[in-house]
Amino acid sequence: MRTSLVLALLPAISAFQLPFKLPFFNNHSGQQLLQPANTTPRVAIIGAGAGGASAAFWISKAKERFGLDIEVDVYEKEPYIGGRSTVVFPYGNTSLPAVELGASIFVKANKNMWRAVDEFNLTRRDFRDEKGMGIWDGEKLLFTASGGWWTWWDNAKALFRYGFHSPRRTQVFVDNMINKFLTLYSPDAPKWDNITHLSTTLGWTDLVSQSTSEYLRSEGVSDRFISELVEASTRVNYGQNADEIHALEGACSLAPTGASAVEGGNFQVFEQFVKRSHANVYLNTSVKSIRQTGSDRWLVDSDRGSESYSAIILAAPYHSTNIEVPSEVSSRIPPQPYVHLHVTLVATTQPSLPPQSLSLSASTKVPAMLLTTFEGARNGGKEPEFNSLSYHGLISEGEWVVKIFSKKRISNKWLSKMFDGQVGWVLRKEWDAYPVLPPSTSFPDVKLQPHFYYVNAFEPFISTMETETLASRNVVDILLKETFGGSGICGPEGTPLNDTAKEDYVFGWDC
Ligand SMILES: Cc1cc2nc3c(=O)[nH]c(=O)nc-3n(C[C@H](O)[C@H](O)[C@H](O)COP(=O)(O)OP(=O)(O)OC[C@H]3O[C@@H](n4cnc5c(N)ncnc54)[C@H](O)[C@@H]3O)c2cc1C
Repeated sequence: MRTSLVLALLPAISAFQLPFKLPFFNNHSGQQLLQPANTTPRVAIIGAGAGGASAAFWISKAKERFGLDIEVDVYEKEPYIGGRSTVVFPYGNTSLPAVELGASIFVKANKNMWRAVDEFNLTRRDFRDEKGMGIWDGEKLLFTASGGWWTWWDNAKALFRYGFHSPRRTQVFVDNMINKFLTLYSPDAPKWDNITHLSTTLGWTDLVSQSTSEYLRSEGVSDRFISELVEASTRVNYGQNADEIHALEGACSLAPTGASAVEGGNFQVFEQFVKRSHANVYLNTSVKSIRQTGSDRWLVDSDRGSESYSAIILAAPYHSTNIEVPSEVSSRIPPQPYVHLHVTLVATTQPSLPPQSLSLSASTKVPAMLLTTFEGARNGGKEPEFNSLSYHGLISEGEWVVKIFSKKRISNKWLSKMFDGQVGWVLRKEWDAYPVLPPSTSFPDVKLQPHFYYVNAFEPFISTMETETLASRNVVDILLKETFGGSGICGPEGTPLNDTAKEDYVFGWDC
């Protein structure tokens, strides 16, 4: 009923129903084949992580709204949906609580993730961390707070060590960033062809063109606060120091107050996105090359053969995909190094790290979450062997799981020393986790060629699950307009239905 009404009111939408413009395509061996007549337009999405799964979902939302006829194929080289969001089970025992191996947390300002959890009847839980946080410089514990990471802010000890102004000014910096970020969900949310354009629209050029340290120093935040609490956040969240990472991502690392996760694993949001999109999903299917065979025809060559599409959504960091693309496409994606991160999960019967493992006095209670600073190394000391080491709750009576992020492989010998020999299950995973994010004023294009779009152009700006869902929403919006001549993901209806809806309105969901 709603669909037919919308179609009647919006003549432009009928463009969606048109068959392909080009009746021919070239197969892998260069033969020209006749495109079957009146075939449904097809879109290929490469990658089924946060970006690709949500892209399929956004297309399905537009299909539902406007009665569009588009077939979507999602290619995923791994046997699972979620990409860098996935879980493992201690000892491989699925009756034990799942542990996030990649992306762990999101916050209420992440409206797509938040909304998805509610709509899909998943269970949100507070991010599980044991009480107590400390900052380790490789030799000394510089600061400890008895609550979790999120509660240090109100801690009297923090006031004593850092004063009033530095935490307050940092809070203002983070709040301003979040307020701007929230405009991305409003009915008149900005649209962008490239990220540099978005950065300007949001007034974030100052943030992305300076390191977190530089920016905060110019706001009157003390060096001590920056090198300790701020750097602890940039290192745990992005594996980079405060003087290396741009201030926008620095602000994001400081934002996780009230962090949440999905019970059983965040990947379920992405599974649901794909399931509800009714897209065809090809797991264990690597895309090898993508070629242009006509002004709006692309040929995807994968483990399942060659398939022809009207549009391509690349939803994986291009340089890690090993996909051969035309030079007109690759030349538009600047080289983008990623932080190579070692994640080590350990099950231990030690309820906390024994102080002697860090050469601390026997009376020291080592906090459950140890974050780190590079400040010791800057001053000639040694860099901590890990970026962060945190207890993540009991997996069974008297046994905890601990997650360690590090730049290098953590050896069994080191683990045994740290946990005084009480090490059960150990699992190691290496990720190209997030982009290296130095200050920059130039970011990649979203539109690489006509009908070829790049979701992960967003990552050197901000790299999170949520922002990948925003990046894909923007890509789908452009694709619907450009490839199918429609009026985007929300059409002209992008306004809240009524006043009550306004407060919780989320662009993409509520239009
Ligand atoms: C250890 C770790 C901790 C993190 N913590 C957080 C956090 O707490 N909160 C947060 O929001 N974010 C966090 N992140 C970042 C977050 O995981 C990413 O920003 C986000 O998940 C990226 O999603 P994506 O879909 O763009 O990419 P990916 O998740 O990388 O998905 C890309 C997909 O493409 C597939 N692919 C690649 N090449 C091909 C090919 N040739 N053919 C077919 N498929 C292909 C890959 O297998 C992959 O599944 C963390 C990341 C890591 C690694």
